[in-house]
Amino acid sequence: MSDILKREVKFVGGVGEVRQRLLEREVGVRTVGDLLMRFPYRYIDRSRIFSLSEVDENMENTYIQLRCRVVGRSFVGDGPKRRFVVEVTDPTGCAELLWFHGVNWIEKRVELNREYIVFGRPSIFKGRISLVHPEIEGVEVALSRKVESSFQGIYSTTEKLSQTITVKAMHTIVHNAWQLVASIPDAFSDPLSEAMRQRYGLIPLKEAIYNLHFPQSKERLKQAQYRLKFDELLGVQLTIQAQRTSRHQRGGGFVFGRVGDAFNNFYYKKLPFKLTGAQQRVIKEIRADMVSGRQMNRLLQGDVGSGKTMVAFMSMLLAVDNGYQACIMAPTEILARQHYATMARMAEGIGVNVAILTGSSKSKERRTAFEGIASGQIDILVGTHALIEDKVQFSNLGYVVIDEQHRFGVEQRAKLWTKNHQPPHILVMTATPIPRTLAMTLYGDLEVSVIDELPPGRKPIHTYHYYDSARLRMFGFLRQEIAKGRQVYVVYPLIKESEKMDYKDLEDGFESLSRDFPLPQYRITVCHGKMKPEDKEAAMSQFKRGEADILVATSVIEVGVDVPNASVMVIESAERFGLSQLHQLRGRVGRGAEQSYCILMSGDKLSKEGRARLEAMCQTNDGFRLSELDLKLRGAGDIHGTQQSGDAFELNIANLATDTQIMELTREVAIDILSRDSNLQMAENQGLRTLRDRHCKRPRIDFSDIS
Ligand code: ADP
Ligand code: MG
Repeated sequence: MSDILKREVKFVGGVGEVRQRLLEREVGVRTVGDLLMRFPYRYIDRSRIFSLSEVDENMENTYIQLRCRVVGRSFVGDGPKRRFVVEVTDPTGCAELLWFHGVNWIEKRVELNREYIVFGRPSIFKGRISLVHPEIEGVEVALSRKVESSFQGIYSTTEKLSQTITVKAMHTIVHNAWQLVASIPDAFSDPLSEAMRQRYGLIPLKEAIYNLHFPQSKERLKQAQYRLKFDELLGVQLTIQAQRTSRHQRGGGFVFGRVGDAFNNFYYKKLPFKLTGAQQRVIKEIRADMVSGRQMNRLLQGDVGSGKTMVAFMSMLLAVDNGYQACIMAPTEILARQHYATMARMAEGIGVNVAILTGSSKSKERRTAFEGIASGQIDILVGTHALIEDKVQFSNLGYVVIDEQHRFGVEQRAKLWTKNHQPPHILVMTATPIPRTLAMTLYGDLEVSVIDELPPGRKPIHTYHYYDSARLRMFGFLRQEIAKGRQVYVVYPLIKESEKMDYKDLEDGFESLSRDFPLPQYRITVCHGKMKPEDKEAAMSQFKRGEADILVATSVIEVGVDVPNASVMVIESAERFGLSQLHQLRGRVGRGAEQSYCILMSGDKLSKEGRARLEAMCQTNDGFRLSELDLKLRGAGDIHGTQQSGDAFELNIANLATDTQIMELTREVAIDILSRDSNLQMAENQGLRTLRDRHCKRPRIDFSDIS
């Protein structure tokens, strides 16, 4: 990088000490380079002048230009409410311009009957157009001024920053900064060689940066954006693919060459249903990894109810057939117990021993597990985090399955890696559908399998949104369903920050339900995170055995619970849940033959996004579509809790939700480059090295916060 880019931004015309501090504090811009690498998020065509008759509600919050004549000017109001109001017209209509600050300054610059170019964001109230604090300039000056580009970039700003540096001032500052570097030929050293640029049709870096700030045409702008996105995503992919290659080169995976009695006996004698095509395919994919001689590291995505447990179990039998132990780790006690029950039943009579170990295992259960695991007596161990403890010593662990993996942190998972002299094969399963682009970024070093087919005979769940005011109607519906012998979940949100309030909501809800659904006709039970494990377990099994009609719960039941007779899921304050969590909860019903329903209850006032989420839920049952939408609504940074993805990779211009094609291309490019120079050591690859280091902090993949 040239020195000029490292100079403090205060040396740029129009900045100075005060603005330097402001820019640094508000948007992290310290140097000329920082300033020039911050690109507009939107462009306005400044050759386009709108007539007032064209302005409508859809333009609120977008910048437009008008050409108007001043027909009235006056001060209105007193004290802090005093404002300067200017009436303007053009041949098609009229509007009002308003200033609350700097009124004396602006007042001197506005003359009656003169024509101005007005630039700002219109708002419309009762049919009247107004613009608050627009920029204005006399028509003669505005039209005669030579501009760098007819597209004006709009840079993201903050409330504070925008008070000092207007849209136009920012534009000027960037322009001045550009003047400093424009004549220096190597101001930006291009990380991509000429040959590479040719091959992928990319314009030079400097040209791209110039066109991002001052697009010379729409076409140029597109090319510039493409170039910068390519750089960013290539940086990301070089990091990810390097991890993958090094894992492959390390080699050393257990080889499970045999398909033996455990698998065959189960398959031919015990399998309770026909596998779906997707289940079969995934089992084959896993098996191919297990005989490859490399350690498997595979992500299995499958919508709720798609039958991941069976895939896990059958692939575990392959480990057992080859003399290895397998374990499956689930995020909650309830889920672990349920997996244990299912798997112990499936393993009966095929000579496979299954045991359980959780945090609340009693001493006898613990002892059995510890001893059996160490001696090799136990083939499959089912459990929670307790499996990670150092005390758990396997005799020969060969395969680890992690269910609902987003609940575990990386470190927790990594500990399982060390439970044998060489790392076991790993399968992580998730029902939180991660959009493909994001999966590629976050799991570039994992292979991905997808179960994209539900077991036959499932009826799509009908989803409805009710406002709280329609609660009695909802109750009526529940009575109908219960009368048919069905069971109902009622779920309350549990958001960490307001736990106390949330439990209060649940308690109030339980009380009110108890009044409306009185004993002995209706039986209601409660299950939430604050209860003792045995009480939770008791409540769940009561519900499972059909001895309760309604289960009132917090989102603890979100994961994995399987009660086929439950056909209604009521989600309270549904607007407070994220889309993927709503979808997970909905997946608790629709597991039996009956038509199932999901009812989203919400307050009457909804934010735009809250409404969009609920509408999306009513429209589709497809988890992958919902997750794509979630990504669009929330942005990639948000979707994985706090500082994930977008932040782990400092993405400036590329968008994980939409830049799928470039992502896939750069993945191929990265694999190709690394196959010839795995550490980017060749002289010709030094630029790529900086690209990788510039755009990529080490990714932190920690899903413990997703819900
Ligand atoms: P998830 O992928 O959400 O973990 P599960 O593994 O819990 O789903 O499976 C959901 C339900 O579907 C279980 O009751 C399971 O027995 C059943 N199931 C799984 N595979 C099939 C299949 N191929 N045919 C019929 N039912 C199946
Ligand atoms: Mg499951």
